[in-house]
Amino acid sequence: MKNIAVIGAGFVGLSAAYWLMRDGHAVTLYDPAGAAGGASFGNAGTFANYACIPVNNPTVFRDLPRYLLSATSPLRVRWGYLPQLMPWLLGFLQSSTTARYTHSATALAALLGRAQGGYDDLIANAGLDRFICPRECLYLYSSAANFEAARPTLALRNSLGIQTRVLDKAEVTALEPSLQPLFERGVLFEGSWHLSDPSAFLHSLQAWLVGKGMRVQAAQVTRLQPSADGVVVETPDGSAQHDAVAICAGVHSKTLAAQCGDVVPLEAERGYHVMYPDTSGITPLISRPVGWAERGFYMTPMAQGIRVAGTVELAGLGSTKHQGLLDLLHFSAQRALPALGAPTAPWLGFRPSLPDGLPVLGRSRASSRVVYAFGHQHIGLTLGGLSGMLVADLVAQRPSALDLSPFEASRFQS
Ligand SMILES: Cc1cc2nc3c(=O)[nH]c(=O)nc-3n(C[C@H](O)[C@H](O)[C@H](O)COP(=O)(O)OP(=O)(O)OC[C@H]3O[C@@H](n4cnc5c(N)ncnc54)[C@H](O)[C@@H]3O)c2cc1C
Repeated sequence: MKNIAVIGAGFVGLSAAYWLMRDGHAVTLYDPAGAAGGASFGNAGTFANYACIPVNNPTVFRDLPRYLLSATSPLRVRWGYLPQLMPWLLGFLQSSTTARYTHSATALAALLGRAQGGYDDLIANAGLDRFICPRECLYLYSSAANFEAARPTLALRNSLGIQTRVLDKAEVTALEPSLQPLFERGVLFEGSWHLSDPSAFLHSLQAWLVGKGMRVQAAQVTRLQPSADGVVVETPDGSAQHDAVAICAGVHSKTLAAQCGDVVPLEAERGYHVMYPDTSGITPLISRPVGWAERGFYMTPMAQGIRVAGTVELAGLGSTKHQGLLDLLHFSAQRALPALGAPTAPWLGFRPSLPDGLPVLGRSRASSRVVYAFGHQHIGLTLGGLSGMLVADLVAQRPSALDLSPFEASRFQS
């Protein structure tokens, strides 16, 4: 049995804690914000096992000018942040060639193909099945031409083993009758599901792990010092030595990884949500997560109402919320579902993203006692369970079922 520190209580960190404890290790979880205090709080809640098409893809070169200029674009850049963003942006564009995008999509599909296996055992043992809503996600196109333009990505998904069903306008309406008849085509993704409440799911998982003996330190890790004997974890409250450390701190993992010998170009893809809690009398407006491709968001029925989540803003961690993107979410959602009332609880979260769209899963350069699991961009809920399982494999020095070489931190070192 080893004494392991897990840093970060999001989907990745709490899953890592689960799989490490299942191996018999003693786990201490560090997070000043508590369970689901980061990006894991406010996501769209989809288990998107179909999401192997990274944002970096060849259509970027065609679509970027339109995305940057259109008033209804789900992508915004704060131009004052451009100098800091530049290294990530250049890496992103370099990763958008056909060859590199195909590499990323294939590597992501390999992870996604095993993602369900990262949750089955965890959900059953921790008794979390009450949060699982087994309704396939529906992705919609308001223009047939845009659907046709996306066909190659659909074909790539299918060739990588993802099962889809294409719907015409009448079939979309038959499936979700409250939607306005705006949508020419829809795609249903088989095997996908969603959570009724991502935050409550993680709070329940943490409570269950604490019941099994996990220690929780509500403190920020300020420094990591790996040595031959272990890793010293420093917080403002003091320091403690652990046999191994898993860095699962989302977008904040960059600083900690640098202390362990790895410079990684991790950026925040900022995303937003608003809630529509007052659906009394009109529920259920939708029965499943419904995405609008051109507007870059999902509407997901959750325990507290309908959550409308999405958009991408490149502006670092420090800027205030972008009211224009929150307004876009509201106006677009209301266009699709006019019965929605006023939006509440505007939320901003930071997707931890690397330029090639792949997470970092592996050991640090400085010490095999430091394991990385971060950079899950738009699919950290989906991949959290599996990433936790892979952390446990890495700590145990067990061969993984997957080739982890595409995910090593060293891919960014020249
Ligand atoms: C609008 C939006 C919609 C999304 N929709 C989906 C979706 O439908 N499906 C999906 O799969 N994914 C979705 N995502 C992505 C997903 O939410 C993230 O990929 C995922 O939450 C990342 O999880 P994480 O555990 O890596 O990081 P986080 O959830 O950010 O957790 C990291 C934790 O580390 C802690 N921490 C940071 N620094 C330190 C430190 N120094 N010491 C101690 N603790 C520290 C933080 O407090 C935080 O709690 C969405 C994201 C957004 C923003």
